[in-house]
Order: sequence, then structure tokens, then C-alpha cells
Amino acid sequence: MSSTKPLSVAVVGAGPAGIYASDILAKSGLDVSIDLFEKLPAPYGLVRYGVAPDHPRIKQIIVALYKILQRGDIRLIGNVEVGKDVTVEDLRAHYDAVIFSTGSDDDAPLPIPGIDLDGSYGASKFVFWYDGHPDYPRTWPLEAEQVAVIGNGNVALDVARILAKHVEDLMPTEIPENVVEGLKASPVTDVHVFGRRGPAQVKFSPLELRELGKVPDVDVIVYEEDFDFDEGSEEAIRTSNQTKQVVKTLVDWTLKDPAECTASRRIHLHFFHRPVELIGTDKVEAIRTERTELVGDGTVRGTGEFIDTPVQAVYRAVGYYGCEVPGLPFDSARGVIPNDEGRVLGEDGEVMPGIYATGWIKRGPVGLIGSTKSDAQQTIGHLVEDAEAGKLHATSDAIGHEAMMADLDARGVRYTTWQGWELLDAYERELGETYGELGSGKTRERVKVVERETMTAIA
Ligand code: FAD
Repeated sequence: MSSTKPLSVAVVGAGPAGIYASDILAKSGLDVSIDLFEKLPAPYGLVRYGVAPDHPRIKQIIVALYKILQRGDIRLIGNVEVGKDVTVEDLRAHYDAVIFSTGSDDDAPLPIPGIDLDGSYGASKFVFWYDGHPDYPRTWPLEAEQVAVIGNGNVALDVARILAKHVEDLMPTEIPENVVEGLKASPVTDVHVFGRRGPAQVKFSPLELRELGKVPDVDVIVYEEDFDFDEGSEEAIRTSNQTKQVVKTLVDWTLKDPAECTASRRIHLHFFHRPVELIGTDKVEAIRTERTELVGDGTVRGTGEFIDTPVQAVYRAVGYYGCEVPGLPFDSARGVIPNDEGRVLGEDGEVMPGIYATGWIKRGPVGLIGSTKSDAQQTIGHLVEDAEAGKLHATSDAIGHEAMMADLDARGVRYTTWQGWELLDAYERELGETYGELGSGKTRERVKVVERETMTAIA
């Protein structure tokens, strides 16, 4: 690397982790040139394609991410999938360092009998459908009246809420037209959420849980026999404000007068139910759960009592799973790129010079958007140390943005740019405006474009 040339860095994945890492690197004091690759024509990762459409407050994080990219010192190169359109070796040839922030976009497995029956779905696919991800089908089979959602985290709450909510209440959001049509036809009446542990062990955020109780024409139902607290639970309530708030909300719901439950749709929260089997011949007909009990320290064991709940669809929200990038090592047990504080480790366990990871692909699919920032700080800290120690060099002489772009052009890769995204962004907002006022002063802020062809044509 010539001392006069800036350090040339590629970041792969324009979700929050990739954008924060790029931002921190740009401000690190190093003379650096940053290209941010993204396989989709739109940036923002799961903030656009994971966060639920009726969470506009969280979606506002996009404003902060937008401001970073709008500065112009980080070049967005969209519609380019690393591992398909370009290889890891190509990136190593053109860049002194490569940071992978490819996130997680699959469901963690749930190996129980019947999980492959028709009517059994991974939550991530449903989320991608309602959030308008271009790589997933445009239609979703919403034919079930009784539905089960497996899991006791925020994704389970999102899925249950979107399934139960009347589509009219989603109209002021950015949901695409095909999703409006799909939800409109849904005959759902009851959504059963199953968790294998108790009210003091759930992973719900207090705000998201309370929100469930405010959904119009949807009652939340809890069952008194599902409320039990052992020493471990009491300890959790004492030491965690979050657990305390969650338990309070759940306990308050037990005091609700059943006569008040008159909504046309219901979300049932079941605790101490471990899903053991999906029952059905061709299609899901019921979910079998085993009742569990606390053993003292907040963990549970099975009781041998089994309960069948008739449902025609099951969504498993038991965690996300990282996406493997061809050409890079992968820890398939954890769904992450093996790394030491962001420095990627090869098959031999040694640091691979110039290759880094950050975000969910670094530490696994846990944590809110904010945690990707502190994570990026650690990874970039190590990258800067390595750059200052003179350890970062591209593997060819054709270093940097121009060389990479020439390479993409030569391969006929149809990439998109930040300017292209600004056009698509404006187009989606204009599409929203065409719906005018929806009543009560509400409007559609944007309507997402879903088809990749249309997205790339605009961008
Ligand atoms: P991602 O956001 O997944 O970004 C990864 C990016 O890399 C994507 O854009 C992807 O397209 C791209 N990519 C992947 N592979 C390649 C490749 N080979 N080449 C090029 N690009 C590639 N957090 C909150 O704080 N509040 C919430 O309300 C909230 N709701 C959530 C709801 C759901 C359903 C989910 C799943 C998560 C939610 N989160 C929420 C968590 C939040 O989305 C994550 O913390 C965050 O998105 C992780 O950021 P990331 O950049 O590591 O991964």
C-alpha cells in the first residue's frame, strides 16, 4: 500500500451494523475510503425488513442512518451480493480491509415432529412478507382461524400482533399493497402464543408487551394457572426492572373481567407450555404442548402432561440465524462468522488478516439496534489498531473504488447507488401521498415498492 493512498475498506451489509461501522471508521482519524455493499437495492437491513411496520418510532432510526449515508463520504453500492455477484477474494483484491455486517435472515431450527407440515412457518419469512422484502413471495396463505406462535420474545409479539390486528389499523404504516390485500382476507380469530417458561422468564420488552393490550378490537387473554414464580423468578423480578414491568403487565391482565373481553379477535398468552409436536396428516391441525414447571432457579422441566390446541397454522419465532457468506468460515452451531472481538478467525483458529465482522453476524441474532453501535466500535477499534500497525494490505495492486467499479461493470453487475436510493425513497413517499387523508388526520407516509426489478429500475 502506498503511503499516499487512503486505506481502502469494503463493508458488506448496509444494515445498522454496517452503517454504524462505516460511520465510526470514517470518523476514526484514518485517511480512509469506504465502499458499503448491500445485496438489496435498499439500505437499512432489518430496520426496513424486520422491524414491524406499526413501529414507526423504531423505524425513525432510519433518519439517523440516512444522515450518515447522505454525507457522501461512504459510497453505497446496492444490489450486489457478496458470494454471488462478487467473491470474498475479489474484495480482498481491491480493498485493504473488508468488514462483514451481513446480519441474520433465517430462522433458527425447531426440531420437533411435524415442523415441516403445510401451515408451519418460520417467523422470518412472514416478517419478510409483511415488510415487503423483494426476495420473498408476494402472497401469504392467511387461511387459518386459529393460529399458534411459538416463542416468548419480541419477534413472537410482532408476529402475533400483525396476525391479529385489523388491516385498517395498519393502513397509516408503510405496508405494501399486496400485504394489505393479504391481511384483509385473513379469517383469523385467535392467536395462541406459547412459551416454555414462565411470566418472569419471557424476553418481551415492557413497551412492546403493553402495546399488545392497546390493539383495537383485540383482547389479550392470560390464564391464571400459567402464573407461578419460584426463587429464581423472584430474584429476576427483584434485580431486573424490565422483568418487574413485564410481570406487572401480565399480572394486571389476570385481573381483567372476562365480561370485558368482547373483541372479535384474541391473543392468548400461554406460559409453561413446551411445544413438542405439530399434529396433522398433510396440514397442521393442532399443536401439542407439554406443561412445564419451575424447578427453583427459574428453569423448567416437563411434567408429562400434554395438551393439544387446535390450530391451522403455526409460526415459530424461536430466534434468527445468520447467513453464511461463501468463501468465509462459518460457525454453523451459532450462525456467526467465527471472530475474536470482530477479527475474523480462519479454519485454523488464526486471525485472517484484513477481515472483520460486526453486528448480528459477529455476535449472533440478539440485541436491539443500539447494540450494533457499541459492537461496531469494538470491531473498528481493532481495525484501526491493525491499520496503524501496517497490517492491512489488499492482495492485488488494483486497489480501491475505481478498480472495483470497473470490475463490476466488466461483469455486467447492475448495481445501485445512494443517489438511486434517494429516488426510490422519494418515489415510495409519493406513492404514500396518493392515498391522501385516511381519516383522523392520518396519512400513509410511504408505501414500499417490493419487486426487485421495479426497485432497480427506479434506483
Ligand atoms: P441486518 O439488519 O440484518 O443487516 C444486514 C444487511 O446485510 C442486510 O441489509 C442484508 O441484506 C445484507 N447482506 C446480507 N448478506 C449479504 C451479502 N452476502 N452481500 C451483501 N449484503 C448482504 N431492534 C430494535 O431495536 N427495535 C425493534 O423494534 C426491533 N424489531 C425487530 C423485529 C424483527 C422481526 C427482527 C428480526 C429484529 C428486530 N430488531 C429490533 C433487531 C434489529 O433489527 C437488529 O438488532 C439489527 O438489525 C441487526 O443489525 P445488523 O446490521 O447486524 O443486521
